[in-house]
Amino acid sequence: MTDLAIQPEVRATDRPHAAGFDSRVNLIGLDRQEMADALLDAGERPDKVKMRAGQLFHWIYERGARDFDAMTSISKVWRADLADRFVVGRPDISVAQQSSDGTRKWLMRFPDGHEAEAVHIPEADRGALCVSSQVGCTLTCSFCHTGTQKLVRNLTPGEIVGQVMIARDALAEWPSPRDGNRQLSNIVMMGMGEPLLNYDNVSKALKIVMDERGIAISKRRITLSTSGVVPMMKRCGEDLQVNLAVSLHAVNDELRDVLVPINRKHPLKELIQACRDYPAANNARRITFEYVMLDGINDSPAEARELVRLISGIPAKVNLIPFNPWPGVAYSCSSPKAIRKFAEIVNDAGYSSPVRMPRGRDIMAACGQLKTESERGRREKTGTAAAQ
Ligand code: SAH
Ligand code: SF4
Repeated sequence: MTDLAIQPEVRATDRPHAAGFDSRVNLIGLDRQEMADALLDAGERPDKVKMRAGQLFHWIYERGARDFDAMTSISKVWRADLADRFVVGRPDISVAQQSSDGTRKWLMRFPDGHEAEAVHIPEADRGALCVSSQVGCTLTCSFCHTGTQKLVRNLTPGEIVGQVMIARDALAEWPSPRDGNRQLSNIVMMGMGEPLLNYDNVSKALKIVMDERGIAISKRRITLSTSGVVPMMKRCGEDLQVNLAVSLHAVNDELRDVLVPINRKHPLKELIQACRDYPAANNARRITFEYVMLDGINDSPAEARELVRLISGIPAKVNLIPFNPWPGVAYSCSSPKAIRKFAEIVNDAGYSSPVRMPRGRDIMAACGQLKTESERGRREKTGTAAAQ
C-alpha cells in the first residue's frame, strides 16, 4: 500500500464525463433487454431491436468498444444515429496507481463528482478485481475507514460494471478471453460499501458481468462480502449464486455490536443461521469468514476456539486479515505471534485459515484510503493557491 501511494501514473483528470454532460443515455449498465427497450424508445423498428441490442451488447461487453465508431459490423449510418442518442460512458479515472508488486488501484469519478475505488491484485495466471458497491458506507464498523466517510450513495449498475471495464481496459483484456487464462479472472465485492444494501444495482451489474456473451466472469469466480445484512443473504444465494464472504470479526454479540454495529439488528445467531442456509454453499464452494486481527480485542486463543465452535458444520474457510490502521483509529494490528496461534487453532479444527499479507486483502482493506488521500491532496493544493 505504501508503495502504491508513491507511484502515481495519472493525476486528476478534469475531462468532463461523457455521460454526465448531455442527455444521451449511457449504455454501460444496461442489460440486453434494457438495450432493446432503449432502442425501441429511440424509434428503432420493433422487429429489429432484439438483434440490434445483441450486437450492441457484444460490442460493448465482449469487445470492449469505447465508442460507436469501433463497432465495425454496424452500418455507418446506424452508428451515427446511435452516437446522437447514446454513449458508452465509462467512469473517469481520477487517480491510477500501480504498486511494485503489480497491484493496481483506480480512483474513479462519476458524473456527479462522487468517487469510488477498484483494486486489481494479479497472480501468475489469474487476478482478482476488488469492486466498490457504494460511495462510502452507511454502516459504521468501528475499525473501517470507509464507514467514516460522510458522503454516501449507492453506485448504479453502470458505475459498478464501469469499474470492471476500466480494469479490463488497463489490462488490455478485450475481447473477453475464452481460454480461462485471464488477468482479471475473479471479482470480489469487497471495495467500498455494503453490497447487500445496494442489492438491486449490484445484482443487475453482476448479471451483466456474468453474461457469457459479454464480460463472461462465472458466478464461481465472484465473491460477495457482507457485514451481515441477514435478510438479503438468501436472495443473493438463490438469485446470483455467487460465493459468499461474511465479515465476522467477533465471536460474541457484545464485541460484535461494537465492531460491526449491524450486529445489533442481526445478531450472531441469526447471521450464522443465514450462513448455514446459504443456498449457494457446499463443500466445493465454501463460505469465507473474514476475521480482522485486532490487537488485544478479538485475537485470543479462547476466541479462536469459540470461532471454530460457532461455525462448526458450515462448509467454510477463515480469512485472517491483519488490521490495516488509518490515522486517528484506536485499534492496532495483532502481533504476528497472536495471528499465528489463532490461525493454528482454526487450522487444527479442519478449516483452512490463510493470513492475507501484505498485498491482496491488505490492500482491499485499505479501500477508502486512496480517496481520502487524493481529497487531502486537492485541499492542500487549493489551500496553497489561496495563500498566494
Ligand atoms: N461492506 C462489506 C464489504 C466491504 S469491506 C463488508 O463489510 O464485508 C471488505 C472487508 O475489509 C471486510 O471484511 C471489512 O471488515 C474489512 N476491513 C475494513 N476495514 C479494514 C481495515 N482497516 N483493516 C482490515 N480489514 C478491514
Ligand atoms: Fe461498511 Fe464493510 Fe466498512 Fe463495515 S466494514 S463500514 S460494512 S465497508
